[in-house]
Amino acid sequence: MMEGILSYEVDYGTDHRDANVNRRQFCTRTLMTAVAAGLPLPVWAKFNPAEAALGGRTRTFDPHQHYPSEVGIQDVESGCRFFFHHHRPEEYGHFHTFGRDEYGAPIHIVMITINAAGVATKLTTTNQWVTGTRYVDAAGMSTFIDRFSLKPANTKQPQLASFIHETVKKHRTAIDRLYRERDAWLAEQKRLGNPSPFTDKRHEELSSYSLVST
Ligand SMILES: [Zn+2]
Repeated sequence: MMEGILSYEVDYGTDHRDANVNRRQFCTRTLMTAVAAGLPLPVWAKFNPAEAALGGRTRTFDPHQHYPSEVGIQDVESGCRFFFHHHRPEEYGHFHTFGRDEYGAPIHIVMITINAAGVATKLTTTNQWVTGTRYVDAAGMSTFIDRFSLKPANTKQPQLASFIHETVKKHRTAIDRLYRERDAWLAEQKRLGNPSPFTDKRHEELSSYSLVST
């Protein structure tokens, strides 16, 4: 009986399949017409930031393969930048976002995890060995988060830059809190006698915040 249920296959018939093909063709045509005419995209043509960063290239499982380029997208005025990559089996990929200090050195702002549908699902602070950027305490990070700015017109991919900028600004309070949690973790590591928590490979994510309800 159980086997029968498990092996049962639903056949919707050819009408159903034809309807799907027709719908896809209609969607593609409508989208191409809108893009060609410079019209706003329909609601169903949701912007997918991961696909925008990939730009049609294969998503390779490699931390050193950055999209859309090694440096990523940079605001030529603020010096803030970001890139996308994929090196965690449990996720589709993530963006690393960077501000810049007074000496021009990059400061990691936050990691934004993206699922296959292009939705931001998690914000994370990472350990120093992950990004190679220097430590700034939570109070100092608050200033860098405030200063993080990507003006779409200053970048090569305005819509993608706008998505990253808005995501950071929208969750500004949560990111602030993540850095206070990270500092609490650091204090705890010192208390436990960890000689170099920043290079400790056992700790990659130091604090994180889910953007989706589970
Ligand atoms: Zn990464």
